[in-house]
Amino acid sequence: MSDLPEYRPETLAVRAGQQRSQFGEHSEALYLTSSFVFPSAAQAARRFSGEEEGNVYARFTNPTVTMFEERLAALEGAEDCVATASGMSAIMAAVLAHLKQGDHIVASNSLFGATVQLFNNILSRTGITTTFVSHTDPAAWEAAIRPETKLFFLETPSNPLTEIADIKALVAIAHANDILVAVDNCFCTPILQRPLDMGADLVIHSATKFLDGQGRVLGGAVCGPKKLTEEVFKYLRTAGPTLSAFNAWVLLKGLETLKLRVDAQSANALQLATWLETHPKVARVFYPGLPSHPQHELAKQQQKSGGAIVAFEVRGAREQAWQVVDNCRLLSITANLGDTKTTITHPASTTHGRITPEARAAAGINEGLLRIAVGLEAVEDLQADLERGLALI
Ligand SMILES: *Cc1c(COP(=O)(O)O)cnc(C)c1O
Repeated sequence: MSDLPEYRPETLAVRAGQQRSQFGEHSEALYLTSSFVFPSAAQAARRFSGEEEGNVYARFTNPTVTMFEERLAALEGAEDCVATASGMSAIMAAVLAHLKQGDHIVASNSLFGATVQLFNNILSRTGITTTFVSHTDPAAWEAAIRPETKLFFLETPSNPLTEIADIKALVAIAHANDILVAVDNCFCTPILQRPLDMGADLVIHSATKFLDGQGRVLGGAVCGPKKLTEEVFKYLRTAGPTLSAFNAWVLLKGLETLKLRVDAQSANALQLATWLETHPKVARVFYPGLPSHPQHELAKQQQKSGGAIVAFEVRGAREQAWQVVDNCRLLSITANLGDTKTTITHPASTTHGRITPEARAAAGINEGLLRIAVGLEAVEDLQADLERGLALI
């Protein structure tokens, strides 16, 4: 889909996908229209039948949304991209486009919380079942395969412990068994990791996070070869969770600074993680960019840097962790991530608060754990903000 395949990511991020109207606008136009008019009855008929390409109705396509799709496809190295209303609707669309009643998913046991709910509580009602297996153990994925397994679903690094799934190893197992691989690439973005280059079939995004990068709008996307995204598009145009033109326009602008932001936020995260690791009140730091990370070598092979998410355990339990959170004046206390503003959350009482204490312990999420999504502030200011609470422990 990219018309600029030879360009580097920085260039694609600001240039790919743009379609100028007859007015020659320099910036991408925002087309706020729900439907499109046709010069004649015959053309209307051709557009509706699909015989002629072109816009019909904004649940199907909209030029601003198309520009966003083409830009993201270029960045992911994908033939095609289909934008959705949110990250969750992207996951829903990808699964329902390719699976049916009786089919089976093997998924990582450390997925985004709402994804687990979607698989367990909603897709299960349609007769699509899921087995959750260890994120880091390819043999467990292989052992979970059944004749009706149609999809491997993963997200790497995991949230909040930044465990790395071996994309190439999982792709090899899946493809030997005619199984599709979908990777939620929200944490790395195509700037740091391109799963399609490693053999994955579909890349899924919550554009709400780093792609927007400034915490303004919800959005999502499914990228991959046209033969797979076409099915996602068919689901979307009928079921309806399409991306709004306004959100697409905001996201187009977000993509223009994606590389600058992700590189700078990752550099900040590495500096912060390095400092936390030497801090006497910190028991452990989880960050793929640190040599102490158990999968540092694998992370270096499949990601360009460690990313912007850092988790760490304070010496203590909930009380001590909350003390750090409550003494922040700069870091925002919110579970969102991917923003230029640094955020801090206590996973055990927020994002992972609804799972049982036993399941949390099994997942390694204890009461002293904090997760930081590092933004663009000066690292010294972030350190001073955290130090206020850490000093009280
Ligand atoms: C936020 C998030 C989602 C869901 O995206 P929404 O845009 O909030 O629907 C899915 N996967 C990951 C990894 C996320 O962080």
